[in-house]
Amino acid sequence: MLQFCSQILEEFPEFFIVYGNNRARYPYSNSLLVQIDKNSHSAILFDNGIGHRLIRKLKREFKIQKTYLSHWHEDHVSGCALFKKHEYYCHNLDIPPLRDLDLFIDLYGVRGTPAEKEFFPIMQFLKIEPLNDIKIIRDNDLIPIRDDLSVRVIHTPGHTAGHCSFFEPKSKIIFLADIDLSKLGPMYLCQDANVNEFEESIKKILSLDIDYAISGHNGLFTGKKIIADALKRYLNVIYERDNKVLNLLSEKIPKTTKDLIKKRIVYKNYEGEFANYLVISEDFIIQNHFDRLIQKGIIKKEDNGYILS
Ligand SMILES: [Zn+2]
Repeated sequence: MLQFCSQILEEFPEFFIVYGNNRARYPYSNSLLVQIDKNSHSAILFDNGIGHRLIRKLKREFKIQKTYLSHWHEDHVSGCALFKKHEYYCHNLDIPPLRDLDLFIDLYGVRGTPAEKEFFPIMQFLKIEPLNDIKIIRDNDLIPIRDDLSVRVIHTPGHTAGHCSFFEPKSKIIFLADIDLSKLGPMYLCQDANVNEFEESIKKILSLDIDYAISGHNGLFTGKKIIADALKRYLNVIYERDNKVLNLLSEKIPKTTKDLIKKRIVYKNYEGEFANYLVISEDFIIQNHFDRLIQKGIIKKEDNGYILS
């Protein structure tokens, strides 16, 4: 058997976690593989950002017939380059950037900025190409595995508008993709992201009966309490960021996102090959909190920034 591909539990031998290259750190991610026929080794895959070398190995072991994409981000879809004549499924809100790569640049908010240049090498390295003919999945759709087993699509927007998780209620396995339970917390860092939706999505996941949770970048979480605690901790990061933003605002001097960047609301440092992009993504995150705190009536917008109300 493949080293990077492990059965999740014995009672449901068709479910495998597929560990992404380099411990699934960006630009790689973990996948869920479900074998639908033991004799023919037919399987379906959820995300394919494990890395090209590992995709090739996986293809030698399994006949992967379909891939469900959790969202449009490059680190979850890079394996598409290695499948020809393949069926892809994704939520309709995430299909436009998969069809038209120009939209990546717009949705990441990097067009015309120094961060734009940081994107091209990674897109080339991952061999991201436009995907045509993607089939649409919707919230609560059932993906048949065998007679008494099907995976349910759970629309969990916030990270992107069409982000989906995938849940199988009998085995109690969920594939969470970029509700990734990382220490850094939820990421709403592109134009189609939304902190309030992310908050609701985490609460939606918390309401499910889960024993095994696969994170896109953080491995496998096992046990109801461990998973619930990890989700609550993750959710709490949103509230901590609310408080950090509020602590940096005043009643008199209006402040903008630019004044709050590099105040450790999200990142602790801004180094490396994506240094420019980190600043842009932190700007998105802070703006999300400004909008949210305005809706809650805690802050207000002045001509040149935001103040406490
Ligand atoms: Zn993502």
